[in-house]
Amino acid sequence: MQVDLQDATDEQDSAVVRSTFRLLVQQGVLLGLAMALLHSLFFWQHGDPNWRFTAAIGLAMLPLYPLTGMRRSYPVFLAALLGFLALAIAALSVQSLRYGRDASFHLVLLALAPAILVAGRIGMKTKWLLALGVSLLVLWLDGSPGTSLQDTAVSPVMLGRLRLINLAILLFTLCALVQRYFIVIVRVQRRLMEFASIDPLTGLFNRRHFMATAAQELARSERYGGSLCVALADLDHFKSINDRFGHEVGDAVLRHVSHLIRNVARNADCVCRWGGEEFIVLLPQTALDGAESIAERIRQQVSDAPLQLSAGGEPLHVTMTLGVAMLNPGEAFDNAVRRADKALYAGKAAGRNRAVLAPAA
Ligand code: GH3
Ligand code: MG
Ligand code: MG
Repeated sequence: MQVDLQDATDEQDSAVVRSTFRLLVQQGVLLGLAMALLHSLFFWQHGDPNWRFTAAIGLAMLPLYPLTGMRRSYPVFLAALLGFLALAIAALSVQSLRYGRDASFHLVLLALAPAILVAGRIGMKTKWLLALGVSLLVLWLDGSPGTSLQDTAVSPVMLGRLRLINLAILLFTLCALVQRYFIVIVRVQRRLMEFASIDPLTGLFNRRHFMATAAQELARSERYGGSLCVALADLDHFKSINDRFGHEVGDAVLRHVSHLIRNVARNADCVCRWGGEEFIVLLPQTALDGAESIAERIRQQVSDAPLQLSAGGEPLHVTMTLGVAMLNPGEAFDNAVRRADKALYAGKAAGRNRAVLAPAA
């Protein structure tokens, strides 16, 4: 069971890595296209005939945008990615050789190194080798004096402006990359928190999360006052439902009842699947009479809302017995739960389908 869960998590993790990388490549293509058009406009404004070559690079990137989309098969994506890399590296190298290091075209290539390292399907060693290759290319281009510097159209002012534009592009690309991965970390962390605190069958909080919330609420009520109650609930004769209708129907009943309890509970209450067919509700800032009325409403809802298993079929009636306890000053939380449990079993003994208050200890 644990191995399955591990496998499922690994698979989801790599799916997150792969889909994020695809998105990144697609945004990279868009950025490359915008960059080429921006450069082209710049050259055109400065009377440099190179604007045609630069515009052609931008146009060549256009069809790569849809080809790197999420729905494309992996071979199509890979071909588009390689096409993009070849185009971007060749274009930036050519521009860099033409205008020299001062125009800083080669520095834009630096953004490729971190982008390679987050690729989904390549081994870490290969990624580092590719990143090293890009870095060496940047270093080599950094030695280029530029072949068109005698060209009267290329003035030092124009080179200075090109340098500013290219450095801004590099900075923007690196920031966008970091931001994208920051968002991924926040999303994955949120999902892991859910994994760790939610019961997968019912969607209610699990015991771990409940106990952490209970400790916080207990500390709050001790510090600021206000009473804290717990209501423990157990389905009546649930075993016979499983025996008569099967485990799947049993599970459907658990989901149905969870939904009903959640609807009755208030936002501030913490509803948890305590175990098998037992539920527990933490009721902060609630006195015993208030807790009793919530428990009674839960009991009534469950008994009044049978589960419709199939259209036109006989609805399945279930009932629930609850035990309610209010924490005494200084009392350990576990002890209050034990008292609620005792009240619950008193309710079972008295005929079930009732909410029973635990006497103060
Ligand atoms: P009582 O009214 O005294 O509470 O009787 P009961 O039959 O509800 O109590 P018992 O403790 O004998 O049975 C609990 C049953 O809950 C037994 C177990 O098979 C079932 N159960 C526990 N967890 C699950 C679950 O996740 N799904 C399903 N379908 N059944 C479960
Ligand atoms: Mg039970
Ligand atoms: Mg039961």
